[in-house]
Amino acid sequence: MNRQAHALLSSSGAHRWLVCPPSARLEAQFPDSTSESAAEGTFAHELAELSLRHYLEELSDVEFKTKVDAMKSGKTRFGDFYSASMKEYIGEYVDLVIEKYAEAKERSRDAILQLEQHLDFSEWVPKGFGRGDAIIIADGFLEVIDLKYGRSVPVRAEGNPQIRLYALGAYAKNAWLYDIEAARMTIFQPRNGGESSEELTIPELLAWGEKVRPIAELAYTGEGEFHAGEHCRFCRAATQCKCLAEHEMEIEKYGYKAPKLLTDDEIADILRRIDNLTSWINQVKSYTLREAVEQGHVWPGFKLVEGRSSRKILDAEQAEAILHDASYSDAQIYKPKELLSLTALEKLIGRKKLSELLAPVIDKPPGKPTLVPESDPRPAWNAAKDDFDVID
Ligand code: SF4
Repeated sequence: MNRQAHALLSSSGAHRWLVCPPSARLEAQFPDSTSESAAEGTFAHELAELSLRHYLEELSDVEFKTKVDAMKSGKTRFGDFYSASMKEYIGEYVDLVIEKYAEAKERSRDAILQLEQHLDFSEWVPKGFGRGDAIIIADGFLEVIDLKYGRSVPVRAEGNPQIRLYALGAYAKNAWLYDIEAARMTIFQPRNGGESSEELTIPELLAWGEKVRPIAELAYTGEGEFHAGEHCRFCRAATQCKCLAEHEMEIEKYGYKAPKLLTDDEIADILRRIDNLTSWINQVKSYTLREAVEQGHVWPGFKLVEGRSSRKILDAEQAEAILHDASYSDAQIYKPKELLSLTALEKLIGRKKLSELLAPVIDKPPGKPTLVPESDPRPAWNAAKDDFDVID
């Protein structure tokens, strides 16, 4: 099965259609364009699958090397994805799966590890299916492990509907053969947060599935109430959704107040909304520009013009010769030599080796104080401690 095939009620969108059921049908009207990070994620998953199949001896050393070499040399439209740091991150995931599989085998000798399984959870979600990266089944126990290669948004296993749906699918697939009493759902996000897990008994998991069923039926038929919030972030309908626009524009209400100062609560409310509002405004700006440029769409009161551009040197060697002839020295016309950024060096060398090599010369100063919602897991900044450290 194509790893990118999606059901209307996709497991990855479950956190959205469970809160805003009509979003699934609304989103289906908009193209699902592959982003660079999604393409990188697919690449990383393929590398992880090859590595685990090699471990399970489903691929010989030669087959494994040939396939990995083909991946490394194949170009994607986003450039090369393979790097020393990707090899390391995927290695951590592979080690985690192998470790969990070994533990399961200790529990029961006939434990199995399944890779890239088609998981059908249509018993709870109409036509619902997904793809499980790694599933371990041992006597009385099932574990679903999901690799998340993205780094921008942390994804945790606790209460995560996507991995719970995978667990329902894995249970439905294997319950006739194994006596499964509990399910553990593990997400491994090597570049943001690492490992997180949630464990439910099968009755708890099935009871959750029963709660999902009526909402999924509403979502499948496009019924139910629109509801805007955090979950709108990656909704394909976001730029044209009226419910989201009204939600974001609620901030306007503060402008209509009598001429008094805003209260602390009102300012905190604005602060709470700012990130989502900014990201929605940017989404609307890029959508309207794309439609105007690519589709010739005319937005009332707007026109396309040529933006600012910068001059550039067409032939660097020729420019260099001309400047030398005009008696300018290398020191005058060249930039000083510059080291790659730490991120680029990490990609080149790998995270572990980089920290081994450069540990004595890398410093990570404390970050500047920043305001975040109280729910953020980081400890609160302690101004008094900071002052004390300085005095110390
Ligand atoms: S943008 Fe938000 S409110 Fe609108 S359809 Fe999508 S999830 Fe629902």
